[in-house]
Amino acid sequence: MNRKVIIIGSGPAGLTAALYTARANLNPLVLEGNQPGGQLTITTDVENYPGFPEGIMGPELMEQFRKQATRFGAECHFKHVTKVDLSERPFKVWVGDEQYMGDSLIIATGASAKMLGLKSESELMGYGVSACATCDGFFFKDKKVLVVGGGDSAMEEATYLTKFASEVVLVHRREEFRASKIMVDRALANPKITVAWNSTVYEILGSQEKGVHAVTLKDTQNGETREEACDGVFMAIGHKPNTDLFGDYLDSDQSGYLVTKNGSTATNIEGVFACGDVQDNVYRQAVTAAGSGCMSAIDAERYLEAQHS
Ligand code: NAP
Repeated sequence: MNRKVIIIGSGPAGLTAALYTARANLNPLVLEGNQPGGQLTITTDVENYPGFPEGIMGPELMEQFRKQATRFGAECHFKHVTKVDLSERPFKVWVGDEQYMGDSLIIATGASAKMLGLKSESELMGYGVSACATCDGFFFKDKKVLVVGGGDSAMEEATYLTKFASEVVLVHRREEFRASKIMVDRALANPKITVAWNSTVYEILGSQEKGVHAVTLKDTQNGETREEACDGVFMAIGHKPNTDLFGDYLDSDQSGYLVTKNGSTATNIEGVFACGDVQDNVYRQAVTAAGSGCMSAIDAERYLEAQHS
């Protein structure tokens, strides 16, 4: 069946686009992807989404988004898109062998955690190495963990991990944090948190059988290495946009983020719109993602109207 709108992704951007296109009677199909609800489902308290003065848990917020969209007729499926063909309209989208067709497409595939790229990091992922404190922090009760990074995520993860761990070391490659002052102050005020400045993780030591027991840190100023004992390593070094499906068709910037036309969510292909973190290297907030999801729904609606007038 040919759909008017297909939405790929189900974070704040995708589900807001779903809400708005559903209310415009466009019967959107939402293909939610591998992480239904997006990145907020792996966070705990969301304190900065307007309308929730006491804060709200990330997964609960996304459940509310989904409920609101489906109430108006959005069809949400827990399916992961494996291929697209944007060379002609209707656009084609595949989930394995299943093919879907849409007159317009809204891309809201978000971004994923970046990794250092060490062999030991991928080997020990899930065995002491993690990119999600809220998912795995619980396993490090009374243990010592490292958090790599110097941005807001690193501060947030380090602070969160002190709920479980006995000691948290922030490993940062420079001598100044990138994170906002309030997040840095909160982290540094925590007696369980210390900082290894000018340091990078050179190697993670451990095994899948016994987990992590130490890392080798390299001093970024003099190149010296030293071993730091720890039981776990959390990566918090930023994110990369999920654009692999679209490389052949859509323009991206030098960091890989999809390029949208100034003041709109239009991509270089007419009828294909992008919203949320997949096209936002600057703000990357749930509320800005939701805002751009609304924009893409309105852009898609206007595009479809223009096709039939
Ligand atoms: P980010 O701001 O890009 O920070 C990434 C950090 O990791 C930087 O300190 C960077 O070091 C370091 N890094 C990057 N690659 C590295 C590598 N290969 N080896 C060692 N260190 C590396 O990413 P983020 O912290 O995930 O934050 C992303 C956005 O989300 C930001 O806009 C942030 O404000 C927002 N955010 C907000 C909240 C909140 O307000 N509650 C929470 C989380 C995130 P350098 O500084 O040297 O580049």
